[in-house]
Amino acid sequence: MSLASLPPFANEPYRDFSLPENREAMERALARVRADLGRQYPLLIAGLHEPGGIHKLLSYNPSYPAELIGVHQKASADQATRAIEAAYHYFPIWAAVPAEDRAARALRAAHILRQRKDEFNAWLILESGKNWNEAEADTAEAIDFCDYYARQMLRLASPGPLLQLPGELGVLTYIPLGVGVILPPWNFPLAILAGMTIAALVTGNTVVLKPSSETPTIAAKFIEVLLEAGFPPESFQFLTGAGSEVGDLLVSHPKTRFISFTGSKEVGLHINELAAKTQPRQKWIKRVVAEMGGKDAILVDREVHDLDAAAAGVIASAFGFQGQKCSACSRLILDEPLHDAFLAKLIPLAEALTQGPADDPAHFLGPVISQRAEKTILSYIETGKQEGALLTGGHKAPGDGYFIRPAIFSGIEHNHRLFQEEIFGPVLAVTRARDFDDALRLANDSDYGLTGAVYTTNPEKIARARAEFHVGNLYINRKCTGAMVGAHPFGGFNLSGTDSKAGGPDYLLQFLQAKSIAQKLL
Ligand code: NAD
Repeated sequence: MSLASLPPFANEPYRDFSLPENREAMERALARVRADLGRQYPLLIAGLHEPGGIHKLLSYNPSYPAELIGVHQKASADQATRAIEAAYHYFPIWAAVPAEDRAARALRAAHILRQRKDEFNAWLILESGKNWNEAEADTAEAIDFCDYYARQMLRLASPGPLLQLPGELGVLTYIPLGVGVILPPWNFPLAILAGMTIAALVTGNTVVLKPSSETPTIAAKFIEVLLEAGFPPESFQFLTGAGSEVGDLLVSHPKTRFISFTGSKEVGLHINELAAKTQPRQKWIKRVVAEMGGKDAILVDREVHDLDAAAAGVIASAFGFQGQKCSACSRLILDEPLHDAFLAKLIPLAEALTQGPADDPAHFLGPVISQRAEKTILSYIETGKQEGALLTGGHKAPGDGYFIRPAIFSGIEHNHRLFQEEIFGPVLAVTRARDFDDALRLANDSDYGLTGAVYTTNPEKIARARAEFHVGNLYINRKCTGAMVGAHPFGGFNLSGTDSKAGGPDYLLQFLQAKSIAQKLL
């Protein structure tokens, strides 16, 4: 198989759930998955399933907190150590498998996910509280990552020629690094987990995958896909448990070669520090790929083309999946002359958002992920009431789930906590800007630098935003969420991360090292 023999990469299309056949297929999948709830899932170490001990990790549905989704093992320190050792042991075997064969397995994983799309959507709806369309986008992105990285690996397997010196044959090849610890977040429990894992495996590394404790069942289902796609069971170890319990051990183990982390700034910086310390018997500088949080701003300029379209873009960016996206708009910077008119459009849109259990497709908004998240978000809402004016929402919505009505605060200043701290929930802070200069200054007044958007028709202001708005993913006249694999390579500046650009042509290089060989011709 070669890159030329494959059709060009294209994003997996989203299905329209207003069509009866798609809707009925999803209803059937939800019923099938519901019949499978509460099962126990083992660990996978050195190719063998391990039942674990008495300590279990229970995963519940945030829409109906009494509904048990899956029972998982809390890996012990001994199991975590054995997982690293097993991945280390198998690394030379997996690294020797030709890139074409590894890429073929990634393509098979995409194919299997495509066939099981409804089922994966259903797990996402029930375990993470995504609405139907958000679940479809998550599954489609997982398929995209598998399809895209397979092609990128084939490209990197045949790098272009080097400058050839007289009498010498010069070659550059990319070889894998070693054992990778994969630490994904819960908010894209399939797409990001699949992307991070497939990227490491397709490049020839072996991995220890430790999913988030909030969404371990989706991870366990993805493990089934890897096995079915033909990835050797020894090439990936599946370890569930609290990140805070086995995380440090995995990160600091001397045989860990790299850490691929996506999650909060606090945990990412801790991992970065820990990984920087060379351990006894460690033979390399560990590589850390850390994609972290955001405090993403949308600027609406007085020369906006269409206020309604901008308001719809802000609503989608701020409140899609209850604001629990690293790319979510949490700061809205409004140019003074349109401040009041824009809010007059925005507030009714937020108030009209339907909310309730995510398995009902009538609901745009579902729950936040956990009781702990609910508590943190509600406490930020109390802070917001001190710092600014609550214009709408911010209270609990009816139901047993963790439902919070989308909150909009005006009068938030650049030094307020609501302006600076990632809340990771449906809370939007609105700030006035005197003019475009002021708006750009405010937008850049953040430790983060992940996504941002500007709504304006003025070409000079667009040019200034392109040059001066310091974010990894800048959007002009559109929402700041919904990055597509291949089209919007994704990753942030500043304390938003290492700017790895997932879903882009450079991403796989982070899991490889280049070997340069010069052979004298005799
Ligand atoms: P988190 O930092 O709590 O956890 C992320 C992962 O790290 C989980 O698997 C967790 O179990 C693990 N972990 C926790 N403590 C650990 C430790 N001491 N050692 C090793 N691993 C440990 O983040 P989360 O709540 O799962 O996700 C939400 C965060 O992720 C938000 O800040 C969001 O902005 C960010 N995020 C960023 C991106 C991006 O691409 N930049 C994408 C999605 C989410």
